Amino acid sequence: MAGIKILKNKIPFIITMFSCVTVAALAATVHAAKEGKAAQTAADADERQVIVLDAGHGGLDSGCVAVNGAYEKDINLDIVKDLRELLTLNGYKVICTREEDISMHDEGVEGIRNQKISDMENRLEVVKSYPDSVFLSVHQNLYTEPAYFGAQMFYTTNNSSNRRLAQIMQDRFAALQPGNDREIKLIDNGLYLFRTTEQPALLIECGFLSNPSDAEKLSDPEYRKKIAFTIYSGLTEYLSGEARNNESTADGSTESFLYMQ
Ligand SMILES: [Zn+2]
Repeated sequence: MAGIKILKNKIPFIITMFSCVTVAALAATVHAAKEGKAAQTAADADERQVIVLDAGHGGLDSGCVAVNGAYEKDINLDIVKDLRELLTLNGYKVICTREEDISMHDEGVEGIRNQKISDMENRLEVVKSYPDSVFLSVHQNLYTEPAYFGAQMFYTTNNSSNRRLAQIMQDRFAALQPGNDREIKLIDNGLYLFRTTEQPALLIECGFLSNPSDAEKLSDPEYRKKIAFTIYSGLTEYLSGEARNNESTADGSTESFLYMQ
């Protein structure tokens, strides 16, 4: 299958690029995806903004292992659950690619590599089932040098507002993490979940599990709540800007400052 062939070729690149995002682009079982589609059809009249949240890794794939032994997959999921609650309470419709510590591969798929591919395909199917959504994938970073710390946002040019979303989010994290002067980074086609995703989409690396301070903080549920709130704040700032821009467009205004950098 051509798609899988491309994916296989990409895997070494992905590993080189993000040691922990490895296969950053992960998706839900066909079963879950079908449920998602059914839910979307039933809720056509539902005007709530949809947010698709992806907690990276899961199951046998633990993602990065922190210097304190914590697993990235658990940190990702905890942040996503906190974020899901914040968003739901504030009137958003939230779809999660996974809500448990599991891989999202199809039943019966054998071998870790095949399971990983199936997992990513299924996550992507969920993402693509909600084209009007904003898609956020939550991960933690890892590097050989323990000094590197702080969150960093990765985006593609598939959607014209991705850069703005990334910058808003990066600025919010800078407020949470004093000394974090990381810059948003453009990713090319290497990440499976982002390669063909057309809605606003962002890969959020919340911190470095190779940094003792980041690892300790990210292992603290209270800090993870702060991360979730930071993401929530960035997302709502982004969405309110989009809404203002849509209003001015509807008025026939040529004002487009919201998209200028
Ligand atoms: Zn990861």
